[in-house]
Amino acid sequence: MGIKLKSPEDIERLAEGGAILARILDELEERAVVGAIPQELDQLAQQRIKEAGCTPAFLNYAPGNHEPFPAALCLSVNAGIVHGLPGDTPLADGDLVGLDLGLVYQDAYYLDSARSKVVGTGSPETNELIAVTKKSLELGIGQAVPGSTTGDIGHAVQQYVEGEGFSVITQLVGHGVGFEVHEPPQVPNYGRPGTGDTLEEGLVIAIEPMVTTGDPAVTTGDDGWTVAVASGAVGAHQEHTVAVTAAGPRILTQSK
Ligand code: MG
Ligand code: MG
Repeated sequence: MGIKLKSPEDIERLAEGGAILARILDELEERAVVGAIPQELDQLAQQRIKEAGCTPAFLNYAPGNHEPFPAALCLSVNAGIVHGLPGDTPLADGDLVGLDLGLVYQDAYYLDSARSKVVGTGSPETNELIAVTKKSLELGIGQAVPGSTTGDIGHAVQQYVEGEGFSVITQLVGHGVGFEVHEPPQVPNYGRPGTGDTLEEGLVIAIEPMVTTGDPAVTTGDDGWTVAVASGAVGAHQEHTVAVTAAGPRILTQSK
């Protein structure tokens, strides 16, 4: 499948779905405190998505030959960076938690967004890692204008992250989104300016820097899902669904 551009009407619907997703993530972020049970956060996410008349995008999602993902929320702790399976271990003081949620609005429009936060009190390094990851997402989004390339986005993210002394995960990438969970093009968090796919008006992409304090190699955990930093160093993840428009980047999953 090639890249499918979205009409201005599609983008309005995506923004409506994105506002719902942002509101649910706001609540999950608030509830991800010391003692919170990841499985209960997933149940809450499922309930809120249903109440909004939407469906979870990740529940039962089965990439390739993989068995279906059994949760709506990906919750990844500490070295876990993405695709974490919410379990029954309570969140502990100082945990770095990534909350990644996708939903389908009006049975047609796919939104994807993620946030990292520290539960309780984090180490200065963990707090800085999250701040740098957030800022790198902003810088990547700044490149999401017609005529730029996916390489421009990746370069903006990578240059800033490495300048701050951290590393970008290169084994996982952002992606087109809007009509499916994952669409072309790939949106890496590294690259050279002017390379990759050219961004056109109507392109909708999930930009999602994944950043760690140490070596960026990742490995999949025993549960078959959780992707973790192989060295055991903490990893942070921030993601927005963004539309490329003539007026500039439009963040579709922004909190109010
Ligand atoms: Mg996501
Ligand atoms: Mg994504």
